[in-house]
Amino acid sequence: AADALSRIGLAGLAVMGQNLALNIAEKGFPISVYNRTISKVDETLDRADREGRLPLFGQYNPKDFILSIQKPRSVIILVKAGAPVDQTISALSEFMEPGDTIIDGGNEWYENTERRISEASSKGLLYIGMGVSGGEEGARNGPSLMPGGSFQAYLNVKDILEKVAAQVKDDGPCVTYIGEGGSGNFVKMVHNGIEYGDMQLISEAYDVLKNAGGLSNSELADIFAEWNRGELESFLIEITADIFQVKDYETGNGELVDKILDRTGMKGTGKWTVQQAAELSIAAPTIAASLDGRYLSGLKDEREAAAEIFRREGLKEEVINNVGVVDKKRLVDDVRQALYASKICSYAQGMNLLRAKSVEKGWNLNLGELARIWKGGCIIRAVFLDRIKKAYQRNPALANLLVDPEFAREMVQRQAAWRRVVGLAIQKGISVPGMSASLQYFDTYRRARLPANLVQAQRDYFGAHTYERIDRPGSYHTEWSKLA
Ligand code: NAP
Repeated sequence: AADALSRIGLAGLAVMGQNLALNIAEKGFPISVYNRTISKVDETLDRADREGRLPLFGQYNPKDFILSIQKPRSVIILVKAGAPVDQTISALSEFMEPGDTIIDGGNEWYENTERRISEASSKGLLYIGMGVSGGEEGARNGPSLMPGGSFQAYLNVKDILEKVAAQVKDDGPCVTYIGEGGSGNFVKMVHNGIEYGDMQLISEAYDVLKNAGGLSNSELADIFAEWNRGELESFLIEITADIFQVKDYETGNGELVDKILDRTGMKGTGKWTVQQAAELSIAAPTIAASLDGRYLSGLKDEREAAAEIFRREGLKEEVINNVGVVDKKRLVDDVRQALYASKICSYAQGMNLLRAKSVEKGWNLNLGELARIWKGGCIIRAVFLDRIKKAYQRNPALANLLVDPEFAREMVQRQAAWRRVVGLAIQKGISVPGMSASLQYFDTYRRARLPANLVQAQRDYFGAHTYERIDRPGSYHTEWSKLA
């Protein structure tokens, strides 16, 4: 069988590549695999054997690798984003022929993909930048796939991608052709930004329940498990319930979560999302708050010093926390509603960013379809994405998720609980930047009149920037200082 040509190839056999290659082989597509450090090729072959003699064929140099794939060739690359992708492309493309396709599955900056698309096309090669979400488990058993770039290249591998992707009951495989250029990478980037927001909001819910409600880890495990049976049902809520149950293996004392250093890592996609939102003049305060939350978490030493300084100045945790007894049951219900409403605002921001970029680049993104392919496989998979899908199906031109009739009703139903949670957190000195950014986003967006009239007056006062009036057309300037 090793003499027959493979249907597809995959280069880069770290966590993601190894698992995706095994997934493809398991679905019955013969695959050739290659990695710069060849010990990983053998490692992958061993796994393929152990996991059931899958049709996976190892190659030890770029030439043999490329020549072992049937034409027109499709080669997935899963290496570190940036220069390693360029190096891998140059090593492999030497042996590729016009009509062959390179598919970069990494978390790549979309402009790098657009540059590579034109470099590839000068050699007659097709190119896809494909977002892959779902981590190791997703790659092995069914990720959410976001391929953008050459449509012809997508058609060449559509059957493979549709089998390999996560499958959602009654809603098909979690893959769709995203659009031209670097759209697949861009959509994956915003997916990650939304993921930052979800994780921040969940951590704030935890903080409030623990520090204002006094809930134990075992109570938290039960509550998150219960939430996962309702409107919040999602992968991140599910794993959070699991996390609270895990005992500390080192000391045998208490739960592991309490022993983890409170400093967050990150790899850049959240920052890119916030930068892009700013570039496109799209307000994304919840996602920005979650990014800032990660930056501030990194200042562990400074925070410890600050805690000491404010303790010496007389600010005692017990004093801030002394704002009366909290009704636990009601708090839990309020926090559930606050989390849900905050999440809707965060998704609204991500979707608006995607739409703005789509208009700028002419990508023609289908927001409802993006919500559909995020329903399974990926880290932000959640039952409520079906509601988002339907909202955009009802009205593809929907200005903001918040004003979809169903979401609007839900926001109104939850706003009182949401305000109670944010208010309580503020009183108790528990920082809830994500939840309050979401609430502020809602309160700003829903108000027909904002104090921006005063900002315009100030701009006109010191800079003669002019202003418009609410009662008649035209542009006005006033000599404010002379009239005051
Ligand atoms: P990774 O740690 O990002 O990269 C390791 C791989 O890159 C190895 O195969 C390594 O080859 C190769 N590599 C590094 N520099 C190279 C170079 N100059 N030339 C050729 N190959 C080079 O691997 P990963 O975690 O599997 O991620 C792969 C991509 O998927 C990344 O873009 C990542 O951001 C993205 N992603 C990861 C996850 C996740 O959960 N890990 C989820 C979604 C997306 P050697 O073995 O020879 O060093």
